[in-house]
Amino acid sequence: MTAPRILVHGGAWAIPDALVAAHREGCRRAAELALEILLDGGTAEDAVEAAVVAMEDDETFDAGRGSFLNRDGDVELDAAFMEGRDLHVGAVAAVRDIANPIRLARMVMESEHVLLVGEGATRFGLDHGMERCSPEWLIIPREVAFWRHQHDQAQAGALDALRAWRSDTVGAIAMDNHGHFAAAVSTGGRPYKLPGRVGDVPCTGAGFYVDDEVGAAVSTGDGEAIARIVMAKRAVDALAQGEAPQEVTRGVIDYLYKRVGGHAGIIVMSRDAGHKADGVGCAFNTTRMARAWNEGRRIVAAVDR
Ligand code: ASP
Repeated sequence: MTAPRILVHGGAWAIPDALVAAHREGCRRAAELALEILLDGGTAEDAVEAAVVAMEDDETFDAGRGSFLNRDGDVELDAAFMEGRDLHVGAVAAVRDIANPIRLARMVMESEHVLLVGEGATRFGLDHGMERCSPEWLIIPREVAFWRHQHDQAQAGALDALRAWRSDTVGAIAMDNHGHFAAAVSTGGRPYKLPGRVGDVPCTGAGFYVDDEVGAAVSTGDGEAIARIVMAKRAVDALAQGEAPQEVTRGVIDYLYKRVGGHAGIIVMSRDAGHKADGVGCAFNTTRMARAWNEGRRIVAAVDR
């Protein structure tokens, strides 16, 4: 038996002071829920699912209801799940009418498929007992107002600077008391994205990677840049080479910036997390990153360095 560990994040960007408490406490609540499951002997899968569902349901974050809108003013959601025993993966992309896409991603992981998109993904969920929500239910007034602002910015040719500095995606890594790992990620993607645009989140190795023999990593931030350097797999490979988690996260974020000029954050947990104080790592080259993790039975949450 190993001591269970949980590490969650709620996005890496210039989180304004007024939103700091909501981000920090949202991460803390998610981590608390997951830790309770793990301490009760629950699986890593159940723990990360509970953490991500809590953050999808929290309108603070760009996941589930309250996500950013695309250029057409619609929500399109991406999510992914991976477990580290047999390396099963499940992901969904551009889903428009599922309240908790992370649950759908888990169903895909538990099937013979790896990635389902759009209406096909929704139909798979309905066939397996999920309910369709209305696409309008996912849209909240705050995001309609933000969309209008972006639309005006786009007309004025000033959209890029705005897009670069918001990233509220959520993710979680857990190791249960059998030393088994799982990771889950969920996002509404970039604000004002092209309809059909998909970033790193549902891409194995870019947005997430998990291997019980080594550990796990989950990315957030500039999805196109993250995908180009396959950031999460790069981090897990560095762990496998014996690098410490904090060194690993710093290394991949530095590489991301040097090689493709990306802004992002990453969380990493090594297989030895249950025994060593340095079993988790987090780095970001944005101003802030919301995250929470456990130290024994205590949850610690932070947004600053
Ligand atoms: N990585 C996500 C994407 O590009 C966005 C984020 O992390 O906030 O879709």
